[in-house]
Amino acid sequence: MKITIDQLSKIYPNGNRALSDVQLEIENGMFGLLGPNGAGKSSLMRILVTLMKPSKGKVTVNGFDLVKNRKDIRKMLGYLPQDFRFFSKLKTYEFLDYAARLAGMKDTKERASAVDKMLEEVGLFEARDRQANRLSGGMKRRLGIAQALINSPQIIIVDEPTTGLDPEERIRFRNLLSTISTNDVIIILSTHIVGDISSTCTNMALLNRGEVAYSGSPDELVEKANGKVWLIKATESEYMEINEKYPVISNVPTSEGWEIQVVADEINGYYGENIDPNLEHAYVYFMESRLNQWTAI
Ligand code: ADP
Repeated sequence: MKITIDQLSKIYPNGNRALSDVQLEIENGMFGLLGPNGAGKSSLMRILVTLMKPSKGKVTVNGFDLVKNRKDIRKMLGYLPQDFRFFSKLKTYEFLDYAARLAGMKDTKERASAVDKMLEEVGLFEARDRQANRLSGGMKRRLGIAQALINSPQIIIVDEPTTGLDPEERIRFRNLLSTISTNDVIIILSTHIVGDISSTCTNMALLNRGEVAYSGSPDELVEKANGKVWLIKATESEYMEINEKYPVISNVPTSEGWEIQVVADEINGYYGENIDPNLEHAYVYFMESRLNQWTAI
């Protein structure tokens, strides 16, 4: 599978520009789309799942135009929106069966076995006879995952993947996606949480104010923050100063004051040493330096 996004822009009728000339290639495996709120992630997702047309540019899936071949592409798609909601009195398994029918699974027997298997995989088999809208928040989210995966889609799009999941469920969900991602499948995870990306994605893009600020592997992004992350031993008053000047990633009180992690090109005048960056550091470094560039303009 291959998704090519070419010069994609979206301007809403009220003049809001959500995407500006987005250029991306997404291939098999897990792809992370990371960016702060308002970056344009949902707008891009809505275009990819054919719920909205772009203002400019185009998207092709294996060479087929997303807008012109909307029906065919929809059959390949599984989508879990951020605010997955349903208002139905159906039982859990009935709901999933209904979703499977909507996704074009016509054979009753095949559908029944796919539904059972999926309920097992997301840990809802025991709750199969419960009314779906009476499930707990986490269980509803899992039902959302199940409906997105029921027709074995080749493109899976998940908006804010860990919303509403507890830590155990997150791990289970991540493992489920990892298993699926070994096939001829693209999984796109759109999130503002760095931790959703780091361990699972082979490739990623950083979206900021509608523009692609970075695309590549998470490792290469981390590489860019080498030499930019500092562990500083500071007194109380130094800590206040540093907090004004630099983005502070973490702070730990010690007997002499504070041990703080900051992201900066240099830390003139303070006592500190470089430490190895992780993706969160790199994200902050990247966003901060972009932000400074913008304010300078
Ligand atoms: P994200 O998902 O990264 O938070 P969005 O795609 O929701 O970003 O939003 C990108 C920009 O587009 C924001 O400035 C937002 O206010 C604007 N926007 C989103 N949806 C609409 C809409 N339906 N009408 C007008 N502006 C919108």
